[in-house]
Amino acid sequence: MHLKNNYFMVIVGILLLGSCTNKSTPPNLLFVFPDQMRASTLGFMEKEPVMTPHLDRFASEGLVLTNAVSNAPVCSPYRAMMMSGRYPISNGVVSNTTSKLAPLDIQLRKDEVCWSDILKENGYSLGYIGKWHLDYPHEPYIDCANNRGETKWNEWCPPERRHGFDFWYSYDTYDYHMKPLYWSTDAKREEFHYVDQWGPEHEADMALNYLANENGEYRDNDKPFALVVSMNPPHMPYNQLPDKYVRMYDDMDEQIQELINSPSVPDTSDRWGKYYRKHIKNQLAMVTGVDEQFGRILQGLKDFGYEKNTIVVFTSDHGDNLGKHGKISKTNPYEESFNIPFIIRWPDKIKPRHDSKLLLSVPDLYPSLLDLMGFSKEIPDAVEGSSFANYFTGGDAELPTSQLYFIVRHNNLLNPEFGSLKQKLSFDERGIRTEQYTLMIDRKANGPTDIYLWDRKADPYQMNNLAKEKPELVEKLYKKELLPWLIKTGDEWRWERK
Ligand code: CA
Repeated sequence: MHLKNNYFMVIVGILLLGSCTNKSTPPNLLFVFPDQMRASTLGFMEKEPVMTPHLDRFASEGLVLTNAVSNAPVCSPYRAMMMSGRYPISNGVVSNTTSKLAPLDIQLRKDEVCWSDILKENGYSLGYIGKWHLDYPHEPYIDCANNRGETKWNEWCPPERRHGFDFWYSYDTYDYHMKPLYWSTDAKREEFHYVDQWGPEHEADMALNYLANENGEYRDNDKPFALVVSMNPPHMPYNQLPDKYVRMYDDMDEQIQELINSPSVPDTSDRWGKYYRKHIKNQLAMVTGVDEQFGRILQGLKDFGYEKNTIVVFTSDHGDNLGKHGKISKTNPYEESFNIPFIIRWPDKIKPRHDSKLLLSVPDLYPSLLDLMGFSKEIPDAVEGSSFANYFTGGDAELPTSQLYFIVRHNNLLNPEFGSLKQKLSFDERGIRTEQYTLMIDRKANGPTDIYLWDRKADPYQMNNLAKEKPELVEKLYKKELLPWLIKTGDEWRWERK
């Protein structure tokens, strides 16, 4: 009995020690994502003449995944995948949350178990700063500029829909970068306020306040934290930024002209060719502004002593064509829209390197991050992404052979002629991206199916559609790559070669 008791106490001691060491040093998480920043606007990638000194340094200290994509490259679907770890059919956010799609109940579900809910349950302080875009506007509409047209965009997120974030400084959508508006944690629906400051700069100020946490005003100092900073630029309108960033590109005419000469930029007779020429300089300048503000947050992390024990992620919700290929911005499978920045840093745990082998998908973030942070057992079975935590820290992983592409058009969802929501989801665009190929099949509700196949190794600008020339390859990629994704994600969209 005596022996048994001692044995019992030793076991209890080991368990307690184990749980104490785990619980005393769980890492913090800082997740920063600007809106609409394509992967090629990372300076160190040397693809565009963009100045990103802070990101360049940060990238040299972390793991850079050059083949990360936004599987549904548009705001709300990305955000819902990022929060839920599930693809659009499963989480229900198949398109942007707007007043017009409100009758289809397209918004992040209140009972969705997000990674932030799990961290909250496990003793974290959680903060969200910036754009949310996961709630649809309802009547009476919030009285602000982007709610006065036919489609309303902005809405307050009530505390019970914040998925564990206890510090809140956010809005749904509001593209006025020089005078953004926010709801703070305790503000009621009508109590939003405007700020006379460039959005990313103001949000970096707020992030620094959160890190400094003077008088414990922002969070519980005894708890680890997870902070999300969701900046709106480099999203349009491209003329809303401090002039100092534009001036930094005044001597860059030659380099910008080289970009304009790229084969995928339409010529000056085309409206999108004009659009690209008009905005490219400012857009690069906006990225430089985002870089500067991200750099300030990183410096704060260091100054307040959190650098070592904080996992930092920098990514974006999708990219931006800026008129390339005749496409205004996103919702297309060209690399400008589809391929996003992804950099993760955790000093001493993740070895700095560039990796092109891991074809990362958005739903993989949730399980990968929770797994890295020590919460692999808490990941719900409903999560559809895979954890690559072991791969991030230098171990092996079974790597995916492709990434899913998913777009349902807003206007088609609104068209009553196209039937029920289920019928509407059998149309529009699905595809896959492998290391070499991008395939996209556009099943039109009222017209012939369009198929696009690009060999990105031979044709990096995606100028040459091989679909007619290589029907067997289209069929093979459909059957071997796309169909398994459709089945896995509960998507009833199907295609058959005629
Ligand atoms: Ca967006």
